[in-house]
Amino acid sequence: MAGELSKMKMYISGEWVEPASGDYFETVDPFTAKPWALVPRGNSADADRAVRAADRAFREGPWRSMHPSERGRLIHRLGSLIEEHADSLAEIEVRDNGRLLAEMRHQIRYIPKWYYYYAGLADKIEGVVHPCDKPALSYSRPEPLGVCVGIVPWNAPLLLFSLKAAPALAAGNTIVMKPAEHTSATALKLMELVELAGFPPGVINVVTGFGKEIGEPLVTHPLTRHVGFTGSTATGAHLYSLAARDVKRVSLELGGKSPNIVFDDADLDNAVRGVVGGIFGATGQTCIAGSRLLVQRRIHDQFIEKLSAFSAAARVGDPRRAETQIGPIANSMQYDRVLGYIDIARQEGASLVLGGKRPALAECENGFFIEPTIFTGVKNDMRIAREEVFGPVLSTIIFDDQEEAVAIANDSEFGLAAGVWTSDMKRALRMSEQLDAGSVWINTYRDISYTTPFGGYKKSGLGRENGVEGIREYLQTKAVWLST
Ligand code: NAD
Repeated sequence: MAGELSKMKMYISGEWVEPASGDYFETVDPFTAKPWALVPRGNSADADRAVRAADRAFREGPWRSMHPSERGRLIHRLGSLIEEHADSLAEIEVRDNGRLLAEMRHQIRYIPKWYYYYAGLADKIEGVVHPCDKPALSYSRPEPLGVCVGIVPWNAPLLLFSLKAAPALAAGNTIVMKPAEHTSATALKLMELVELAGFPPGVINVVTGFGKEIGEPLVTHPLTRHVGFTGSTATGAHLYSLAARDVKRVSLELGGKSPNIVFDDADLDNAVRGVVGGIFGATGQTCIAGSRLLVQRRIHDQFIEKLSAFSAAARVGDPRRAETQIGPIANSMQYDRVLGYIDIARQEGASLVLGGKRPALAECENGFFIEPTIFTGVKNDMRIAREEVFGPVLSTIIFDDQEEAVAIANDSEFGLAAGVWTSDMKRALRMSEQLDAGSVWINTYRDISYTTPFGGYKKSGLGRENGVEGIREYLQTKAVWLST
């Protein structure tokens, strides 16, 4: 079987290369549960080759001496090529991670905005002249860091790749990216567009494989200067400690257990749509999933009834069909993990009001499908309210007043995002100040933009992506003194 599948290649220093080990692994379509291609199983030798290539391109290649506007032009060109090829990239992404085709088309058509935005910033990175108290001209200039390693997960592979690649390149760095082992195809496909755009060899490299085997050697490589990681808090904390040994810069975009808080004065129909989109969108596999629903007591029963009816009507099935609203879980390990959490919630005494199992539909027989699942009667100290499930499982907690809502929302080791549903804008603004979260959405949920900083409080992360703050992660400041 494996022999019939096509083999992908890694992209290092402008060349398509086989893994040093000669080993490959299967990438599986979550809808059919069948492998569709073979991915190179990279190891430390490949990591070394890629980081050295990026380092050479940074020190010796034309990239560094190029005027920033020229670098911006190349980044912009890559954005246009993604726009041109968005639909075919979306099809590949769906094959790898099972997200809805319509949603992936929409997402990938939006990705070029990151490239355009940071292309425009490339020649606007300016220094400062300081009012110095010595007989000297003293000024500071922002400079790139060198080789930046980006490690990303499988839930939005090309988007999360681009959130790191676009600002790192615009700042003048060179990059080595490692997609998640389950979803390597679009990052490699993108390298065909990098060639077409005309990037110098070694500026953008992509290696593939498993975290321990190639991810860690990238992080610990002595020539790596920055590690940008998106993934679980456990892995992020581990990589943070590895990077600390060599005092490398890191940015971490990690997990969440975000509260979605519905007050009794909210527009309930709007809130139902927001809560459903927040937890069942992407089959619950987003870091910002609104996985804890906090509902004010007076409207609890009415809200749960509306929410269950709306969620039960969601069409689960083939991610390529236009009518489908909820696709499969991205891989078998994650499927078992989500079912495991549903069992835990039951054992902890939460009440299952919807879902909790594989849908009884012929179309869902083979893939990794789980029904949209809602628990009520959850207490905030239960595991189902504290740990990230990363699947379509909503935990409902009752609160009485604003103070209690804030206390429950903030009683979490995570602080990625929060939603507030109310018609009282004074309360909404007060809540936005009180919630420990990197993003607070009021009467909306899951909005992100290339213009607006995104990142986590507490164990949800370190540093910010997007906007002007996003490019600062990839710059360091040099002070220059000129005797006068
Ligand atoms: P993960 O931490 O297991 O893996 C993420 C990436 O890290 C993969 O590429 C993996 O190969 C690599 N990796 C794993 N172990 C490694 C190691 N020891 N050394 C180097 N690399 C290693 O996470 P996952 O389960 O694939 O992704 C889901 C997690 O990602 C969730 O916790 C989710 O909340 C988080 N996430 C966060 C954001 C955000 O922006 N905050 C966005 C999307 C996903």
